[in-house]
This record gives sequence, C-alpha cells and structure tokens, in this order.
Amino acid sequence: LVKRSGKNNFQFYQMTQAKNDLESLKIETNLRKALERDEFLLNYQPKLDLASGKVSGVEALIRWKHPQKGFISPADFIPLAEKTGLIIPIGEWVLRTACMQAVAWQKAGLPAFEISVNLSVRQLYQPYLLEKIQGILEESGLDPAYLELEITESIMMDSEHALKILNELRSLGIKISLDDFGTGFSSLHYLKEAPITKIKIDQSFVRNCTTDSNDATIVKTIIVMTQQLNLEVNAEGVESEDHLAFLQKYHCNEAQGYYFSQPLTADEFARQFSRMERIVSPSEEAWDENI
Ligand code: C2E
Ligand code: MG
Ligand code: MG
Ligand code: MG
Repeated sequence: LVKRSGKNNFQFYQMTQAKNDLESLKIETNLRKALERDEFLLNYQPKLDLASGKVSGVEALIRWKHPQKGFISPADFIPLAEKTGLIIPIGEWVLRTACMQAVAWQKAGLPAFEISVNLSVRQLYQPYLLEKIQGILEESGLDPAYLELEITESIMMDSEHALKILNELRSLGIKISLDDFGTGFSSLHYLKEAPITKIKIDQSFVRNCTTDSNDATIVKTIIVMTQQLNLEVNAEGVESEDHLAFLQKYHCNEAQGYYFSQPLTADEFARQFSRMERIVSPSEEAWDENI
C-alpha cells in the first residue's frame, strides 16, 4: 500500500511538474511580448524621512498586467526575467519610466525627492550599463543625485566586478542602497568595501520588532551600525504605529510600508502626497548622529 501510494504520488508529481513547465513556458512567451504590448506599469511606494516627516523618496515597483491572468506579482516573473535575460530590456524600461516620472512630478510642482529603482544582478553584468543609465539621465533630465539604485547582497558576491561598476555609478552621483539587508549572504566586509549609501533593513525583521526581542535587537543593532558607518538606514515593511514609534525611538532615518502607503500609481501618489507628509510628526530636537 505504501509503495502504491508512493508511486501514485510520483506520477502526480510528474504531471503537475509537466503542467507547471508548460505553464511557465506560456508565461515566458508572454513575458517576451509584454514590453511591446505595453503591459508593464510602475507603482510607487513613498519613503518617509522620520526626522522631518517629509517624503524623502519613492521606490518604483514593477507590475505586469497579463491579458488573461490579470496582475502578476514581480516576485513571480522577475526570477523568470532574470533567467531568460529579459530583465535587461525590462530593467531598462523601468529605469527610463521611473526617471521620466520623477521629472514629471517635479515639473508638476512636487518637491524633489529620490526615485529608487531595483537593479537585478544580471543588469550589473550587462555591457554598457553605465552608458545606458547616463543616456537615460540625459534623456529625462533627472539630476543623478535623485536616482538611487537598490541592489541585494547577492550582487556583492562577485566583489571585484561589482565594486568596479558600483564605484562608477557612484562617481556619476547615483546613490546605492543595499536592499533586504540581513537575508542574503551578508558579509560585513562588503559594507566596508562597497560604495553603498544606504542599508534597507528587511521587512522580516521589522515585522516583529515590537513583539520579538531578538528582532528588536537586530533592528536596533543594524540602525546603530549603519549610523556608525556613516550610512543611511531605511526600514521596510512598516505596518503599524508601534513599528513607527520603535523606529523613531532608535533614530532610523527613513521608513516605508503599508502603514504610510501601499505602492500607488503615479497619479494616486501625486494626489496623496500632502496626506503622506502629515503622517509622521517631526521630532522636536535635531537628531544626534549616533545613539
Ligand atoms: P523589494 O525591492 O524588497 O520591494 C519591497 C516589497 O515589499 C514590494 O513588493 C512592496 O510592495 C512590499 N511591501 C511594501 N510595504 C510593505 C508592508 O508594509 N508589508 C508587506 N508585507 N509588504 C510590503 P512587490 O512590489 O511585490 O515586489 C517584490 C520584489 O520584486 C521587490 O522586493 C523586488 O525585489 C522585486 N522587484 C519589484 N520591482 C522590480 C523591478 O522593477 N526590477 C527588479 N529587478 N526587481 C523588482
Ligand atoms: Mg527594493
Ligand atoms: Mg526589500
Ligand atoms: Mg525583496
């Protein structure tokens, strides 16, 4: 009996596997056509400066409106885009669209703030990345000081090449933040070596920082460490007033999360801008650099 059910399970597995393969093949074909069919859009999630309560920036997050399936999460198609190399043209589209949008908001009268774009490992290895980005900055007219690229710890693994490109990006005036900090193969060595300007504490630590003493310690320690290293620190996944109070207490520079706002379309973002700047009350005294 055990044997039989084992065999059945195996057949079942093979069938679902085949179905999944076919499914992902279809998705891949559609992903190839998605750019020309104009099926991608960007949402923008505000980042709040916790000392002043002002919007310090927005993170651009890609969305795919699939003709049959509706919205597909980037968590589901970005890995496929990376695997197939499609991340190169898609990533370029994201950069161009985000930079153009940032300038459009400035022209519409919003104060200038940073625009952050997620950069995948694959993009860092694309030939002429620097020239492409320079071209996009010129085309859009965006001051490079307002562009931030978010990279993950996995990028740092091949340090020699990564460091070279990152340094070149920095020399253009572009900022570099280390996303999902604490979840990858972090090495404190890279923090010292790499030209990073900000660390983003992963939401898995922030989520429980007010209920789990280990997470509280991790979040506090990352904040202190980044400030001692003269880096900025951002907390992702802020979902409650308690999270915000905790982060303000320990002088975290910047935060983002559903408590402030979900990622929004460009128009929604512009409409909600003044509401967002009323959420965080500015602190009375100027913050000390170090705790
Ligand atoms: P990420 O860069 O770490 O982005 C943060 C993710 O957390 C976003 O998910 C955002 O919607 C979500 N989030 C924001 N606030 C909260 C919160 O309070 N609670 C919770 N539970 N989640 C929150 P999203 O948009 O689904 O993106 C997932 C990931 O896909 C991103 O993680 C990023 O790694 C990748 N991604 C998104 N857009 C792009 C892109 O244009 N290029 C590349 N290469 N990757 C992208
Ligand atoms: Mg990110
Ligand atoms: Mg993240
Ligand atoms: Mg992530």
